[in-house]
Amino acid sequence: MNEADSLKLSAGLKKFGLEELPSDENADLVVINTCAVRQHAEERAFGQLGNLTKKRKNGEKFKVAVMGCMVSNKNETLKRKFPIVDVWAKPQEFNPIIELMIKESNISDGEFWPSTFGTPNSITGFVPVIHGCNKVCTYCIVPLRRGREISRTPIEIIDEIKHLAKRGVKEVTLVGQTVESYGKDLNEKNDLGDIFDSIENIDEILRVRFLTSYPVDMTDKIINSIANSQKVCNHFLIPVQSGSDDMLLRMRRGYSISEFHERVTYIKKTIPDAAISTDIIVGFPDESEQEFQNTIKLIKDVEFDKIHIAAYSPRPGTYAYRKLEDNIPLEVKKERLQIVEAIQKDIALKKNTKLVNTNVDVLVEKEENGKCSGRTQNNQLVHFNGNQVIGKIVKVNIFEISPWSLKGIMNNSEELAVLK
Ligand code: SAH
Repeated sequence: MNEADSLKLSAGLKKFGLEELPSDENADLVVINTCAVRQHAEERAFGQLGNLTKKRKNGEKFKVAVMGCMVSNKNETLKRKFPIVDVWAKPQEFNPIIELMIKESNISDGEFWPSTFGTPNSITGFVPVIHGCNKVCTYCIVPLRRGREISRTPIEIIDEIKHLAKRGVKEVTLVGQTVESYGKDLNEKNDLGDIFDSIENIDEILRVRFLTSYPVDMTDKIINSIANSQKVCNHFLIPVQSGSDDMLLRMRRGYSISEFHERVTYIKKTIPDAAISTDIIVGFPDESEQEFQNTIKLIKDVEFDKIHIAAYSPRPGTYAYRKLEDNIPLEVKKERLQIVEAIQKDIALKKNTKLVNTNVDVLVEKEENGKCSGRTQNNQLVHFNGNQVIGKIVKVNIFEISPWSLKGIMNNSEELAVLK
């Protein structure tokens, strides 16, 4: 979401004659686009602001804007801590940044932003379809910062995808905090499946991805439309967060483990080669050894393709921060994190071993001096040698694997025209 926001802001500033630079060297304006989901992310932004403060003290002249989830209505502490910042722009509110640079711009949000699409910097691009989040997960800061769900209109989304397609993009990832919520707030009933259907007709787009999924919002209809699509990749990112029902209640996730299994079973039945990834939080308040073991059991039962694992990080403003004591010691959080990582490493190794001596279809994203990389439909990273294949789907025969990536030889004779 942040990557898409950055490209959009950059395109907006470009309309007023500003150019993006490769670094903050000699810049008139430095924009830091922030994430606040965990403390670590905030600390990185603080580090950058510290560096900029030093530069300013050394006499360099530039303006500083901070945008994204770190910015809220109650910003007084941050403002005091970083007086170097000229404007603080909340998520989706870019106008203060434009106004900082262009005093007589007269921009109106309604007219300016919907028609401003980012200029892609790769053959893949992110397209937000829904902003905000209506869920009430007790640990999560995102709904507090990004507000309630607002879907973009199908026309705006398709226009943006066509804009990207004309500029070389071959794969789009539709993004939303709960991407299946798409369309619920629109007058004309459109869901994610309808957007998938419309993209089928945009010839240049070879692949479509989507994230993040909310287990019980993944309807049969959406899963079926993925199964029937020529372009939508069979890769699901469905955060489960924990394998314990009691814990899911404390997190206010709104589903049980058996409901999660039911959805996963339906996906696997409908799309046998589907890859399923997830997010897990360890060390949430009061996480007992038994609850943690339930998470391990879930991981072993489902055999996820990838897990994004995080230690619980209390976020000021959330319910959990106010009401639940952060009582799992750091060492225990770290130990649990490592246990999950080790188990997942074995699962990924086992899965990838099966791919040795098979052909996979790779959409080539990078090519430098003959060294190429790209992804399979299931989102696995593949390295191989090739020439002038960027943006194409090629067949690669795998000869070496690790838990995190694959290595292979491109099968020249079989450059693919068809996708699945
Ligand atoms: N909308 C998605 C993702 C939200 S943020 C969902 O809710 O499922 C991405 C991930 O960050 C979450 O899935 C969660 O695993 C992690 N996360 C969010 N808040 C966190 C916190 N306070 N501490 C640790 N991890 C957190």
